[in-house]
Amino acid sequence: MSITTINPATGVKIKDVEPITPAALEAKLVLATAAFERHRRTSFYDRASKLRRVADLLEARQADLGKLMTLEMGKPLKGAMAEVVKCAMVCRYYADHGEDFLADSPAQTDASHSYVRYEPLGIILAVMPWNFPFWQVLRFAAPTLMAGNVALLKHASNVPQCAQAIEDLLREAGFEAGVFQNLPLEANRVVGLVQDDRVKAATLTGSELAGSSLAAACGSVIKKTVLELGGSDPFIVTPSADLATAARIGTQARMLNNGQSCIAAKRFIVVDSVADAFTDYLVQEFLALKVGDPLDLATDIGPLATPGILAELDQQVQTCLRLGAKALVGGQSLQGSDRLPADLRSGYFYTPTLLADFPPGTPADQEEFFGPVALLFRVADLDEAIALANSTSFGLGASAWTTVEAERDRLIQDLEAGAVFINGLVKSDPRLPFGGIKRSGYGRELGQDGMREFVNAKTVWIK
Ligand code: NAP
Repeated sequence: MSITTINPATGVKIKDVEPITPAALEAKLVLATAAFERHRRTSFYDRASKLRRVADLLEARQADLGKLMTLEMGKPLKGAMAEVVKCAMVCRYYADHGEDFLADSPAQTDASHSYVRYEPLGIILAVMPWNFPFWQVLRFAAPTLMAGNVALLKHASNVPQCAQAIEDLLREAGFEAGVFQNLPLEANRVVGLVQDDRVKAATLTGSELAGSSLAAACGSVIKKTVLELGGSDPFIVTPSADLATAARIGTQARMLNNGQSCIAAKRFIVVDSVADAFTDYLVQEFLALKVGDPLDLATDIGPLATPGILAELDQQVQTCLRLGAKALVGGQSLQGSDRLPADLRSGYFYTPTLLADFPPGTPADQEEFFGPVALLFRVADLDEAIALANSTSFGLGASAWTTVEAERDRLIQDLEAGAVFINGLVKSDPRLPFGGIKRSGYGRELGQDGMREFVNAKTVWIK
């Protein structure tokens, strides 16, 4: 894949970016190595001040940075601006708490003094996706830089301007050259890079294929990885739920970011006795969504990020329909459709879609649908709901709706997921760890757990 910005709302190319040359990459590794020696000796106070400055800059430039995201990957501008504000929040969170999270941890032993101290590792490589082009990077960078590490960013090839804007912002906030560097790098050069001795660990947010390739390369040279991969999150609705609210929040949970979120509610699993009523609410919510120009603040659903994502999503939907599933809403690509204004017809738009009545053996059983397509399943009871929720290879998030305490406890205990949200949509929050189990990945970002992923927990024993 070339490193190219194409406006997904129009299909018009904005810019090509030259991949980094091997010589320039080597220079960045040298710079990062030298920067680490200085950065790791700076105080938490100093790093926190810079992170707070990053937060101020993000907030001041919310509209411009939001627009940059929208132009490169198509998310509606209102969501893009909210993403910039959330990035400011994660910077301030680690500025406020980072020092405490990494404070020495004493232990009573046979020593006169023993404790664990948390030290930075060095250069950490982040391989990041395009779907939250600022948030994914800042949620990694804020704790990582606060811990005293330095970072290299290999961002997705369709968001090169966002990638460079983040480096520029961190530099402007006062982080010295080499502490955070953007590498316009093709995916097939990542394995070589992580095997370089100077890179100490890596994190990847993206697909299973990319994650397993990176983890295999790191495993071969004994380097730690954190993997944040895909999901097919369940959204379980039980009879005691407030159905109208569940349908409204469920629609947000499915449609956020044009449906391209790892923790989107992808499978609606509804107990039979309330399935008709819930479905009616959900259909009304889906029909009310406004598809159109993502730069328009009234737009709910913009284009998918690339033609490949549009083609794959449509293929999944058409396969389900061919095998006998029903489309209760939508079910087709909008490319070329006269339902869009003329200037958007070459964009990668898809109708908000609700599929139901799946026979066994459709892609709905196991695959992640990365776009505005919801899958609706009816089940007899809570047991069946939990079994279906756990039946995929993923284990990222799960949302469940009930007001019955015993049901709530059962759901929390038995759902196989990195996060369970009761009566709310699954979301990331700097104050809570975030990550998956099963093939959704391992390790955590955010919270204290996230900050302790890329540090050496050094045991100290003094007689
Ligand atoms: P992707 O193709 O895996 O791309 C993600 C990043 O990995 C990009 O920078 C990409 O570079 C790079 N990459 C691709 N193949 C690689 C390889 N073989 N070795 C090393 N790097 C490689 O992912 P995507 O399909 O764009 O993103 C969507 C996926 O990410 C979904 O499954 C979604 O659920 C998941 N996701 C997970 C989380 C989470 O927190 N768990 C958050 C967001 C998204 P190029 O762009 O150059 O190919």
